[in-house]
Amino acid sequence: MLLRVILLIIIGVAIYRFFGGKVPFLDKKEKSEVEKDFGNSIQGTSKCAYCGVYMTEDDALIYQRKAYCSNECLENHKKEK
Ligand SMILES: [Zn+2]
Repeated sequence: MLLRVILLIIIGVAIYRFFGGKVPFLDKKEKSEVEKDFGNSIQGTSKCAYCGVYMTEDDALIYQRKAYCSNECLENHKKEK
């Protein structure tokens, strides 16, 4: 009986999230982890780790805690390693 209730709650939450619902304690955790990850290295503007171009935080592609201006730079950087 208890197992069935738990299963129903899990399914309910899954459906809720599928339709764009936010689960506060889950989403908050995700957000704080992202902020922690980006907080130190990227603030406002970022410099491309490959070509050195400056871009806004919104345009930056993040890979292994480094910022890239475009997918091209990211791929080139990976190839050089
Ligand atoms: Zn670049």
